[in-house]
Amino acid sequence: MDLRQLASLIRKGDRVALAKGITMAENDPGRASGLLRRIGVPGNAFVVGITGPPGTGKSSLVDRLIEAYRREGLRVGVIAVDPSSPITGGALLGDRIRMTGHAGDRRVFIRSMASRGWSGGLSRATSQVIRLMDAAGFDLILLETVGIGQSDIEVVGVAHAVMVVLMPGLGDDIQVSKAGLMEIGDVYVVNKSDLEGADNMVVSLLSVFRGGVRSPPVLKVSALSGEGVDKLVDALDSIRSRFSSGNLELRLRSIKGMIVETARGAAMQKLAEATDAKAERLAKQVLGAELTLEDAAAQLA
Ligand code: GDP
Repeated sequence: MDLRQLASLIRKGDRVALAKGITMAENDPGRASGLLRRIGVPGNAFVVGITGPPGTGKSSLVDRLIEAYRREGLRVGVIAVDPSSPITGGALLGDRIRMTGHAGDRRVFIRSMASRGWSGGLSRATSQVIRLMDAAGFDLILLETVGIGQSDIEVVGVAHAVMVVLMPGLGDDIQVSKAGLMEIGDVYVVNKSDLEGADNMVVSLLSVFRGGVRSPPVLKVSALSGEGVDKLVDALDSIRSRFSSGNLELRLRSIKGMIVETARGAAMQKLAEATDAKAERLAKQVLGAELTLEDAAAQLA
């Protein structure tokens, strides 16, 4: 099948074609960029980035959000970025298996992506997958990351709204700020509100924002009981309604994130290719004191 046919099937919402396009974005960046040129930036899907430390309940909340948005009649795409072993390169699905409850629903499309410890490539593929799902007619895309490092913060840069998920007993607010999470959230969720300490966590979060320029909503939610999920949906919907009415700032933010990540991915790939070809020659020159290590690195960059 040529790229034109594939793009046209994706636009018709063909799930097999969409899956093919996504696999291409992950494994064959060169061909994928040809496909993506045909797809463009449809810009109809509202993208919610979901991040936060592991174990705070992100997947459980995604599951609740799928339910809530399906009730509203929206078509929901989910991209779950999994940490993967650098040895096997495989995605650790683990707890995400629970999302397969939606597997039979043709208006839900769940895709797990392995991070492969390669933040540039990961982010590039992520923005491409968003564009493909968008083209296929999904109204809302939930992008869930593992929340353990800088790469997550970069990944959610392509989202229109970022939801940071925390939980009681996570430690003091300073620990939370260190992770860079306090700068990126549009909505903060203290999940597991059925456990002790949720109110304290809310108070510490509010104190972090007090006196600052930003005061994002801080919501107590229990993905387990479902309590507070409606308020979370309201908070996301208030951003979504700005997006739907054509808010330029939101649209620019996401496209800017996609451009930066696509460029970063391409640069990382170039570097990896150059490394194989050139690094050994440069190493010999450094060893022979013909070149400083700094100059050798500059030649690779
Ligand atoms: P993730 O790593 O952030 O995606 O977290 P998961 O969604 O996998 O949840 C981690 C664990 O917390 C699982 O055992 C969930 O069942 C549990 N969990 C999720 N939400 C809640 C909640 O609201 N209350 C309680 N008590 N447990 C929860």
